[in-house]
Amino acid sequence: MMHLIAGVETGGTKVVAAVGRTDDPGRIVDEMEIPTTTPDEVGARVRAFLDRHEVVDHVGIAAFGPVDIDPRSPGFGSVTSTPKPGWTGAPLADLVGGRPHTIVSDVTGAALGEHARGATAEIPDSAYITVGTGVGVGALVGGRPFSTTAHPELGHIAMRRHADDDFAGVCPFHGGDCVEGLASGPAIAERWGRPTRELGDLLDRAVTLEAWYLGQLVATVTYAYRPQRIVIGGGAMKIPELLDAVREASVREIRGALGAEHPSNRPDTYLVPPGLGDRAGVIGALHLAAAHVG
Ligand code: ZN
Repeated sequence: MMHLIAGVETGGTKVVAAVGRTDDPGRIVDEMEIPTTTPDEVGARVRAFLDRHEVVDHVGIAAFGPVDIDPRSPGFGSVTSTPKPGWTGAPLADLVGGRPHTIVSDVTGAALGEHARGATAEIPDSAYITVGTGVGVGALVGGRPFSTTAHPELGHIAMRRHADDDFAGVCPFHGGDCVEGLASGPAIAERWGRPTRELGDLLDRAVTLEAWYLGQLVATVTYAYRPQRIVIGGGAMKIPELLDAVREASVREIRGALGAEHPSNRPDTYLVPPGLGDRAGVIGALHLAAAHVG
């Protein structure tokens, strides 16, 4: 039987809500995009959007966070800590007006979307790395999120410093001792004094440092989850030449440790851009909802 489902992706700057059908969850019936203002305002607008569709049986939510997804935790379903004003502790259930829902992190949602109909379709074990406002990793095992009670927080993993880098870093917890502190979009902007789109004559040096750090992250994700393919996206990955530089860096980093036949030796097919572009999160949220309607 066909049901209506919805997907909501909350991001640092915008919230996307979409309605689809269980028989083809990625084909969007109706969609809305609004700025990420306060939880009250966003909640009212998302609920009004969902109310326009009579019966939405389940809502998948892909949320910026970190989010508490442990059903036994008192903070279940809320954003645990974020610099975004008003959102720390905000219950995500308020976005959907009592409808049944399932919550994952935004990058896990993107991993689910890419697996459903993007760059990792038919690939059981995969990961999605996003390099943007933050650095995040979503991992799927057998097509499902790696964990059901918490998400990886690999943005905070420690990095080996590049010899030419003395930047203090931007992570509120670790300064320049983690990958988010050294290689996120805000780190690039602060290190070079320019946004990622305007690096100009600094481009080569910026790409060298980004690749040094992101190559280490790709190696870590490879060792930890043993994915067959990794998608790497986010605003910072739009820097020209960066993807190829990260591919080369990841091979130098892994140094054949997993054997000559391991897919990481062929970075053109192992480390790939998103097939769905910026749409992966909301499409993943729709598929997440469809998987919970039965
Ligand atoms: Zn950190």
